[in-house]
Amino acid sequence: MKVTAAVTHEKGQLSIEEVDLAPPGPSQVLVRTVACGVCHTDGAGIRQLIPVALPAIFGHEGAGVVEDVGPGVGSLKKGDRVIMTFPSCGACAYCAGGHPYACDHLNALFFEGTYRDGTKRFSQNGKAVSSFFGQGSFATHVVVDARNAVRADVDSDEELAKLCSLGCGVQTGAGAVLNRLKPEPGTSLAVFGCGGVGMSAIMAGAIAGCGTIIGVDVIPSRLETARAVGATHVVNGNERDAVEEIKRLTGGGAHGSVESSGIPALTLQALACLRRLGTAVVVSVTGEEKISLPLEPYLMNPSVTLAGLTEGGSDPQRFLPELVRYFKEGRLPVDKLVTFYDFKDVEQAFRDARSGAAIKPVLRF
Ligand SMILES: [Zn+2]
Ligand SMILES: [Zn+2]
Repeated sequence: MKVTAAVTHEKGQLSIEEVDLAPPGPSQVLVRTVACGVCHTDGAGIRQLIPVALPAIFGHEGAGVVEDVGPGVGSLKKGDRVIMTFPSCGACAYCAGGHPYACDHLNALFFEGTYRDGTKRFSQNGKAVSSFFGQGSFATHVVVDARNAVRADVDSDEELAKLCSLGCGVQTGAGAVLNRLKPEPGTSLAVFGCGGVGMSAIMAGAIAGCGTIIGVDVIPSRLETARAVGATHVVNGNERDAVEEIKRLTGGGAHGSVESSGIPALTLQALACLRRLGTAVVVSVTGEEKISLPLEPYLMNPSVTLAGLTEGGSDPQRFLPELVRYFKEGRLPVDKLVTFYDFKDVEQAFRDARSGAAIKPVLRF
């Protein structure tokens, strides 16, 4: 079928064009896209900091309605509303152990542009086009593996559109807290970077019952939003020493921290702000940036943990319905982060994501 997509032919470029989409193969479904979030990782792929084979269609926070199912799909049917998420092989030891975010084939499935059956479903003038994250949701329709489409219990396309970022950004931040840190009620959490991922970590801290939740950023409007979604305190890193301020507010250091900004130096701060036995989770790194870490006094003596984590340690078929439930209960107000854009304004959405004017730009189709 003919569909409309934002195609990247060359580094740094996007243009809205007509492409062909093959029908879903075994274990795949065809989804009419309702909305797609714009994530930092899309920008990294478009700029080829991640070398995705071009031409490619980016977009990996899609949500939509199932229009057709391929052979052997039992979990989804025509008309189901789904949130699309990251792909995984389903067969390696990590997938089998309930850790698809640590799939042995993560790099290939996220970034090589093919599905787990090795095919590409988009093409243009007979030439295959890559699908980022096994989605390519900057398109009016996509084919995805049923493994990475999660049925969402919502009543309308409007509600679904607010939730598309659960598939990547929200689960990355919320999962760092709920799946990795698992904070005890009353403990303290520091979150570096108040974008979509960091805000989700703040909301999750509130869900977990953390007593002190500190958001760190340098954009005042974001710090205001951080307070509105659950931060008990905020620190403007341009005005204050964030580490000293967190130690002061927590009476000696945070129990846990999340680094979501992707700025290497802040990984060091996320570690330095901890109390003894604390854990810092790093969820956002792109490229080959380096930090220099003096092992003492940062690591061994305080017995702290520096942890990396992909996609919030999520098993999406289990975790995304839990996040949808929190949203419906008003405990995960992700709609406060969303700015909607018409699909044709995709480049403006990227500009606003970069400038900080939008926390979570979402394209509507
Ligand atoms: Zn796997
Ligand atoms: Zn993402």
